[in-house]
Amino acid sequence: MPEPAGDLDVDVLIVGGSVLGHYLAAELGDRYSVCLLTDPAGGDEALESDGLLSAGYRGTDVGRIQPARRAAGYWKLWAENHDIAYDAAPSLLVVPPDEEVATVRFWLDAALHVEREGPVPSALRGGSASSHVCFRALDDVVLDPAAMVRTLRARVEDSCVTGEVVDVTLANDSAVDAVEASIDGQIVPIVARYTVFAADAANADLLAKVAARTRNAISRRERAEAARTCQAVRKQLQLFVRGPGLPLVTASVDGLQIVAHRASSTDVVWIVTPEIDDAATTLGPEDLRFTPQLDRDAVAALLGRLVDVSPLLEEQAATLRWAARVRRKTEHPMMAGPGAGAVGRPSPAKIESMGLEGFAALWPGHVSYAMIVGDVAAERIVEHLGRPGGFDHADVARLARPGLTLDLEARFVSEDLEWKDWGAFRSWFSR
Ligand SMILES: Cc1cc2nc3c(=O)[nH]c(=O)nc-3n(C[C@H](O)[C@H](O)[C@H](O)COP(=O)(O)OP(=O)(O)OC[C@H]3O[C@@H](n4cnc5c(N)ncnc54)[C@H](O)[C@@H]3O)c2cc1C
Repeated sequence: MPEPAGDLDVDVLIVGGSVLGHYLAAELGDRYSVCLLTDPAGGDEALESDGLLSAGYRGTDVGRIQPARRAAGYWKLWAENHDIAYDAAPSLLVVPPDEEVATVRFWLDAALHVEREGPVPSALRGGSASSHVCFRALDDVVLDPAAMVRTLRARVEDSCVTGEVVDVTLANDSAVDAVEASIDGQIVPIVARYTVFAADAANADLLAKVAARTRNAISRRERAEAARTCQAVRKQLQLFVRGPGLPLVTASVDGLQIVAHRASSTDVVWIVTPEIDDAATTLGPEDLRFTPQLDRDAVAALLGRLVDVSPLLEEQAATLRWAARVRRKTEHPMMAGPGAGAVGRPSPAKIESMGLEGFAALWPGHVSYAMIVGDVAAERIVEHLGRPGGFDHADVARLARPGLTLDLEARFVSEDLEWKDWGAFRSWFSR
């Protein structure tokens, strides 16, 4: 790799290269020199997600539903324009007959469009929801999140640099002076006119680094408090079922969300998630080196619920495999229930500035919100920067690693999940 010639000067440094970071880089890249710095050790929520970009049918408040609806509609259009397959299994909402009237009313009040499908799909026949009524959620989008990130990356490949943030230095406590990154073993100070943290769950940790570098004691305390309360990290159990004969069905049923994708030319995979239990939610920075613990009782209960809803799984037991994991899901604290603490102003997504000039930390909360947060941030950045600084983008391109695109794969097709035999799941629990 060629030696970097001292500092790397750019208009915009974006720390965190997943859906939001890429979206923002693509928005700004035509006009400004952009460095998109990503730490592969950071974990990538987008690739953990099930790819259901929901317009908020399962939400309860309009403040959340409206932006979600806008964002989901956008991604559908975006998928069409980028030749990305979507809705292999369109999003279905399965409702008990006695709740039909109230639920449909709720959707219509929120301007969410549905089409009545009638009886439940074959995958749910004979199960606990057999007599329920099925609707198609016309404003939801189901797509492969890795395909989304890969497509965004193709537009900004020569801005993508792999490295680890080792330090942040401030100019007079009022602006970020430089972000020092370890890139291929060398420390490179990246000096940007605007710095953005888009590392999601790692943002709180990065903000704590900024707070620690603040000299003024009062600002230091305030910034440390912001880093501590800026995000809620929820723990979400995910169950994967994979097999050749599995029907393609995406359905919200009896509190379970099933999302189906084609995992290979023969296999279909279901990603199943129950409601989130906020008992394990934490506020502020988390040590991302540790994987959250899998609770066997919770997995057993979830498997039981799934089989109740879809008895077909037992029939197909011989050809199915399954895996389970607990992932982090970072959201605005007000989304994460009373256990996560109160915040003043509710919003579905978040932009934090810490009072620093030319700086923002962003959380989309959901993949679907990434374009809204990205658009708002891009507007602010353009307003702040005005004309480009005239930096040579070739300096960034020299540190970039094209080809990393190949590594971007949604977790649900990953072979490194600990896949187990379906038939043996009872013995797994009695061990
Ligand atoms: C299990 C699960 C299910 C989900 N389901 C859905 C869903 O169904 N629908 C939906 O809309 N959303 C869903 N989400 C939420 C969604 O995935 C996230 O809100 C979204 O991915 C956040 O996007 P992002 O680009 O900000 O962050 P991420 O996708 O988390 O990417 C952050 C990036 O920053 C990098 N990084 C981390 N630390 C550092 C560092 N110190 N320096 C540099 N780079 C760093 C990482 O490597 C990564 O590339 C789900 C999340 C989880 C975990």
